[in-house]
Amino acid sequence: MSLIEIRMRLDAALAAAGRAQGSVTLLAVSKLQPDAKVLAALQAGQRDFGENYVQESATKWPAFRDQFLDAKVHMIGPLQTNKAKQAVELFDAIHTLDRASLAEKLAKLAQARGQCPALFVQVNTGEEPQKAGILPAGLDDFVKACHAMDLRPQGLMCIPPDGQDPAPHFTMLADMAARHGLSGLSMGMSSDFELAIALGATHVRVGSAIFGARPSA
Ligand SMILES: *Cc1c(COP(=O)(O)O)cnc(C)c1O
Repeated sequence: MSLIEIRMRLDAALAAAGRAQGSVTLLAVSKLQPDAKVLAALQAGQRDFGENYVQESATKWPAFRDQFLDAKVHMIGPLQTNKAKQAVELFDAIHTLDRASLAEKLAKLAQARGQCPALFVQVNTGEEPQKAGILPAGLDDFVKACHAMDLRPQGLMCIPPDGQDPAPHFTMLADMAARHGLSGLSMGMSSDFELAIALGATHVRVGSAIFGARPSA
């Protein structure tokens, strides 16, 4: 496992950008990875993890959490509205708030529970028809609608289009977050997390570079 190597690269990217050590949270993306690898990462001190599937997380995380009380699990996959209740019980953060119907559901759950996971609004910076996320032109209205429901997203998240230079997407996301006074920026994966850190990421989501290739679903 190359968790140590990724941590070193992350720290070097922070230093190169003149940013404070510790100002980025590394999410180890553990979807579909064998439990033994997740356990090894926990034992090596890794505490923030990214998961894509509610069902898989429900099977896998309660036992790990019993052993590692300060572990945090971040939902980074598409979230169906009918799984929102389970999701708010399972996850410390949801990075994929991508539509009004999900915001409404999360707002109701937050009211009933008196608490809510940290929320990131997913922005479809590439305006790809097949990809989830709020379109850049709709972000102002969406954030206002969230506030009107008493939801306070703490940041923005994006997944740049495959095969394109991610830099303009990361820059656009950082600009939009600054305009809204949002401090969180969830961007950067195995292939581009150092660039994302140079452009202001606060949360990078690194899977295969830590755990190796994923078994297919
Ligand atoms: C799977 C996934 C990642 C991790 O991808 P790697 O290329 O393995 O680092 C990051 N972000 C999201 C949204 C993902 O679904």
